[in-house]
Amino acid sequence: MILALANQKGGVGKTTTTVNLATALAAIGLRVLVIDSDPQGNASTGLGIDRKSRSSSTYEVLLGSAGIADAMVPTAIEGLFVVPSTAALSGAEIELVDVERRSHRLAAALTEAPAFDHILIDCPPSLGLLTLNALVAADRVLVPLQAEFFALEGLSQLLGTIERVRAGLNPALSLLGIVLTMVDRRNRLSENVAEDVRAVMGAKVFETTIPRNVRLSEAPSHGLPALLYDSRCAGSEAYIALAREFLQRIQSLPQVTPANV
Ligand code: ATP
Ligand code: MG
Repeated sequence: MILALANQKGGVGKTTTTVNLATALAAIGLRVLVIDSDPQGNASTGLGIDRKSRSSSTYEVLLGSAGIADAMVPTAIEGLFVVPSTAALSGAEIELVDVERRSHRLAAALTEAPAFDHILIDCPPSLGLLTLNALVAADRVLVPLQAEFFALEGLSQLLGTIERVRAGLNPALSLLGIVLTMVDRRNRLSENVAEDVRAVMGAKVFETTIPRNVRLSEAPSHGLPALLYDSRCAGSEAYIALAREFLQRIQSLPQVTPANV
């Protein structure tokens, strides 16, 4: 399964979800690849890849000068690899404008990738060409949504984008679900927002919610997924539950994914 983690809103938990869901899946023995498609490079940092050791990156993969196999690096977690991002990626949106099939660059690179059970693409906070490449390459989209007052604002724009990509560029694409992040059970507003999102999006919303948990925000500064930094904290436990629910959801999908992913 190729999964794009997308939301054009900044700071909603895309990267935290990518890193910890990927870690939880690798921890149960699956082979997982994270593609850091954000010039900020937070997923690479959170997986412990320091900037000096990022030679080939998502930038070279998109521009076609490196393959996934050349660019991916191992992480401290067995079975978990990452194609890191560098600041050069911020130029890719412009550099790709005149390139042939510019929305299909990542999809094309992934057809040559080594075998993985799951590939998770961490998108930047915009609906530009980097996110478009992720949506064209992906089978499913997972949308992290922060449980705050403006949560639903922007969601219809994102769903519209997914629908347009499905109609025009990638018929295989669909929304896997929405995961509520930074949920604060002691905060009435946060609970109300969670209820509103469920009322609008129904079964698309994962039952598992990710609580606001300081350990999740501390872990990246140690170059560790929260699951390694503190495997027992509420945040880690939530991501283990999310991985379980993710696997259940994709098992019940009618469509079989190609053998190479
Ligand atoms: P961007 O749009 O900039 O890429 P993002 O959507 O990837 O952001 P994150 O980087 O995952 O969001 O999270 C934003 C900030 O909130 C980070 O500092 C992160 O450590 C923190 N954070 C994420 N999830 C939680 C949580 N459940 N509890 C507490 N802090 C969190
Ligand atoms: Mg991010």
